[in-house]
Amino acid sequence: MDFLHNLVLSIGSLFALLMLVTAVVFFTEKQFRAVWISLLFFILIPFPFFFSALIPDVFLFWYDGALLSFTAVLFVMFLYNPKRNKFSPSTPTGQNDERNTMFSRRELKSNTPAYREYYNLFPQHEALDSNWRQKPGLMSPRSVFYNPVLFAAAEASFKTISWLGNHINGNQAEKKVDISPEKLTRFVKSWMKKQAVADVGVASMKSYHYYHTKGRGVQYNAAVKMRYAYGIALTMEMDENVMQTSPKASVLMESAEKYLHSGISAIQLAAFLRELGFNAQAHIDGNYEVVCPLVARDAGLGEIGRMGLLMTPKHGPRVRIAVVTTDAPLIVDKPSTVAHRMIEFCYYCKKCAAICPGKAIPKSDRKIEDGALRWKINSEACFTYWAVSGTDCGRCITVCPYAHGTNFLHRFIRFGIEHSLLFRRLAISLDDLFYGKKPKSKPLLSWMQV
Ligand code: SF4
Ligand code: SF4
Repeated sequence: MDFLHNLVLSIGSLFALLMLVTAVVFFTEKQFRAVWISLLFFILIPFPFFFSALIPDVFLFWYDGALLSFTAVLFVMFLYNPKRNKFSPSTPTGQNDERNTMFSRRELKSNTPAYREYYNLFPQHEALDSNWRQKPGLMSPRSVFYNPVLFAAAEASFKTISWLGNHINGNQAEKKVDISPEKLTRFVKSWMKKQAVADVGVASMKSYHYYHTKGRGVQYNAAVKMRYAYGIALTMEMDENVMQTSPKASVLMESAEKYLHSGISAIQLAAFLRELGFNAQAHIDGNYEVVCPLVARDAGLGEIGRMGLLMTPKHGPRVRIAVVTTDAPLIVDKPSTVAHRMIEFCYYCKKCAAICPGKAIPKSDRKIEDGALRWKINSEACFTYWAVSGTDCGRCITVCPYAHGTNFLHRFIRFGIEHSLLFRRLAISLDDLFYGKKPKSKPLLSWMQV
């Protein structure tokens, strides 16, 4: 009897402690709505357990027994974690054409041979593109979120990346250093992580990782030759506080900065591999021959989510990616263990689709697109919003439940999402409750208000 009653009080205390810790974590995140809700739960959830102290002795056994049975059933329900084929990851079969990316189409100047040739090849894109061409455009002084200082900071990063474009390739040293794949892989991963790269993975390169035709720069229209056997994907975390100000100018500044930093790491890594005597090429913003999210996915770093971006277990879609392709001997990573759960989570979540100001993210189920079962965003609709806002928006990234910080609380939630069907379902509703169904954009950080 005493044991049962003490057990009930202990479980109540545990829930109270958990909700108190949750409130403290939300406070440190400055999520004040979530703090109040946690404090409310701090009272409500343990209440039935502590209420047992007021139950007369004659009923206490039955009250405690019912409460413990209910808790046990709930606990067992949380252990249920089936894997349904419906949510299995799918691998593409065909290759993409870089000329179809929005950044490539943005570089086409009207009445040039390239412009005419492109719209002869893809006439279905002409009307869609003329729509966003009439809008102010990315970083335009006429755009909604124009900010001369923050746009200048973004432009500084983009200019620096373009200067680095001359260094993606180079000659390798004449003599190869003798090094085992295990040692080289471990060195590359540890070295990259030491310099602020969030995650590193190695993929075995397949044809679908490569564009078939170049769509940017002086090599426009050139066929991409499949080159090397391995692709090293690097992710760089974007700052959570800055992303919460999306879709303001600060977001463009942040993503440009992380394109730059991931690009620097990729160029440095490619140079290192060439010093060892191997071939290596960096793929950085403006100079891609590969589809980075696909390489990163197959390097075990995550899965492509509803918003069409790589979702990583630690930072969700709040990362920028660069890739190095090489013939250096490396150990290929296994597929991500969380991919299946991420697809299932996205299937029910739809938070990014609900908030997208461009209505570009599908709310429907995955469909076969370019040979793979996946969600495909409406790139033209997304880009049209960018051309109005002047920034790269990022609202979808910001509100994604996977994009929260990497503290104890969110690590625990991600563990629950991976290991419990009930937890996955609950996490979606709780994310809406704590953060809001459509979280508001936060003001610019004080130092950005210049
Ligand atoms: S917001 Fe939800 S649906 Fe969208 S990518 Fe993130 S988890 Fe998936
Ligand atoms: S970046 Fe903005 S417009 Fe584009 S898909 Fe995400 S939320 Fe929609």
